[in-house]
Amino acid sequence: MPDPITYGSSGKSSSAPRKYVRLTDPVEVVHGIGARGAVTLARLNIHTVGDLLRHYPSRWEDRTQFRSAADVQHAETASLSGTVSAVSVKKIRPGLTVTEVTLNDSGEPLRLLWFNQPFTERQFKPLVAAKRRIVVYGQVKRNSWVPEMVNPEWEELAETGVGLSSNRICPVYPATEGITQQKLRKIVSAALEAVKGSIPDAIPEELRTSHGLIDAEDALAAIHFPAGEEQLAAARRRLVFEEFFLYQVLTALRKRQSSTRRVLSTLHAAPCNEALKRLQGALPYALTRAQKRAILDIQRDLTSGSCMNRLLQGDVGSGKTAVAMAAILMAVQNGCQAALMAPTEILAQQHAALFKRWLEPLGICVELSTGSLPTSERRRVLAAAESGDAHVVVGTHALIQSGVQFKKLSLAIVDEQHRFGVMQRHALAQKGLSAHLLVMTATPIPRTLTLTLYGDLDLSVLDEMPPGRRPITTHWKQPDKRHQVYESARRLLAKGQQVYVVCALVEESEKLQAANAEALAEELANQVFTEYEVGLLHGQMKPDQKEAVMAGFAAGTTHVLVATTVIEVGIDVPNATVMIIEDADRFGLAQLHQLRGRVGRGSAASYCVLLGAPAGETGKARLQAMVNTIDGFVIAEEDLSLRGPGEFFGTRQSGAPEFAIANVLRDNNILVEARGAAFGLVEKDPQLNDASCAPLKMALRDIGDRMATVLRERGEDAVQCP
Ligand code: ADP
Ligand code: MG
Repeated sequence: MPDPITYGSSGKSSSAPRKYVRLTDPVEVVHGIGARGAVTLARLNIHTVGDLLRHYPSRWEDRTQFRSAADVQHAETASLSGTVSAVSVKKIRPGLTVTEVTLNDSGEPLRLLWFNQPFTERQFKPLVAAKRRIVVYGQVKRNSWVPEMVNPEWEELAETGVGLSSNRICPVYPATEGITQQKLRKIVSAALEAVKGSIPDAIPEELRTSHGLIDAEDALAAIHFPAGEEQLAAARRRLVFEEFFLYQVLTALRKRQSSTRRVLSTLHAAPCNEALKRLQGALPYALTRAQKRAILDIQRDLTSGSCMNRLLQGDVGSGKTAVAMAAILMAVQNGCQAALMAPTEILAQQHAALFKRWLEPLGICVELSTGSLPTSERRRVLAAAESGDAHVVVGTHALIQSGVQFKKLSLAIVDEQHRFGVMQRHALAQKGLSAHLLVMTATPIPRTLTLTLYGDLDLSVLDEMPPGRRPITTHWKQPDKRHQVYESARRLLAKGQQVYVVCALVEESEKLQAANAEALAEELANQVFTEYEVGLLHGQMKPDQKEAVMAGFAAGTTHVLVATTVIEVGIDVPNATVMIIEDADRFGLAQLHQLRGRVGRGSAASYCVLLGAPAGETGKARLQAMVNTIDGFVIAEEDLSLRGPGEFFGTRQSGAPEFAIANVLRDNNILVEARGAAFGLVEKDPQLNDASCAPLKMALRDIGDRMATVLRERGEDAVQCP
């Protein structure tokens, strides 16, 4: 029979005199932490009492159910309780001792074994003498005639029946080198006791009430030592909310600061309307509703009197370029200049060509500035930007490195911003090119991440494709079916269509990747598509070589283009209808989606073939996701949930804040709620002057400092905390 132990909510019974302890105090002030303990904790990045209390459990074990030795199963992990008898230490061989203790619950005995812990004998002797009861927790083995537990956790049964590690929902901390779980529970409990009554609450009471949140002190106590599942859930919700809330208050402040900070040329609505009419007249197609909506968002920003900070998100092929053109026209009609930055030379050239085609007839002068420009040409372009003769300058990041001066720049556009890395998004503005900022991306970032990564940008989404697009059919084939795939492609080549073949990704070396591409191109030219022209494009080629290859493919004189991921971005050849991707499982889903977006741009049916034999289940699920949907947002969500937020962009450049307890995926609803609360508060009280905001301000300064580092790495301005 299990022991009849009453279940209570608190095992703490401290009668030590109260000392006033704050969260910011060094961790040594906590009872039970000596100098050595502090060194160990420092290795876990725990320096203050607050750090210790925010070292949250990674999981909790329900140890409220007791089992008896008579009916506990082999391999079961269980709590048992009883008195101890018969302590002995045996030397098994040199260097190996075993301490053996017998636990007697009312039925069968249970043998407890500890290896190489001779000191346990000393701990048990007095317990045996006084017939004290203990509680043990561990995995039971039934290999011999009496059940055993090896190295179990144990503690003396407390008077209340509830110990720090027994008869409760028990915290289990993330792997902690140099300190045991039991010791951690002890010092966390002591820290909680010490700070009682002195924990400032960063969430103002009014918001706590309206969002149904428990207070900070209760939440901290319950996240470590919850009285039950419900209390644990309430504590977690409160702490997750707090993390998001603090970050979003900073985001709201940042947004306010960046929109009011810069003095710039406010554009006027009348010339904007004129510009839009001219563009609609010039373009060979009607704008989609989504494009119109985005253009109106931008017009509203440009004429509002404050600085535009807008993210234009639209899947590959949704027509972001036309929106950019409209924005540029609005700026130029107002007598200002615009700059557009693209991630690759090919793309910059393509944009410049497009703008020349549609904007020059409207009297707009378009210039291209890339790193490979001859010096004289480059000088001419710089002079034109400075004099104001150039209305639009399109370039790669050479544009911001070259020290280009504009006469009157009012609009900076960053295209395919994900290729620059999140951190460079304000680089244009930082180079003294203070202007309205429009950032465009085809990476369909899940909304959750948008709110954390780009929380200070306004968002326009192109959620509608231009009409008349034929859907792209995606197939996933085993690599040994490669030649059948080529034969299918040949049938489309025969109809005059064109084919991309993307070779395997070699992340470590661009050279190797280029060599792969060369070998594949040679094989295809000499053995497979012998009757067709096969071109080659990779990152190691010279800009003019690349340009010539692209021109040949665009003109249709090259039929098959073998390429590396340099074609991932923006390339627009509507006659290309087949995309074959080698070793597709090596690519990120977002990348595959981008590559697939190179086809399906014309009116003919298009195909994407993924060649790959991924080993694991995740790899299979990822390729299957590509086959199942062409919706970039669904793919992004899938990628995010399969690989986690850190991997989504690649950890280093993600710039994503690291949350201690919040999970941007799972806690999406709380994020949206906390964001609403934060933006509402900053709107109402931008300086956070209300007395109830004092603890909030303190907390903000603390995380503001930490965030400043992240922002600096991203090349962005820090937030000024009130
Ligand atoms: P992305 O959003 O990927 O940058 P693009 O701006 O390159 O997309 O547009 C993709 C293709 O769609 C281009 O060939 C462009 O001319 C065409 N396009 C853009 N908007 C429309 C529209 N409203 N109707 C028809 N075709 C459009
Ligand atoms: Mg584009």
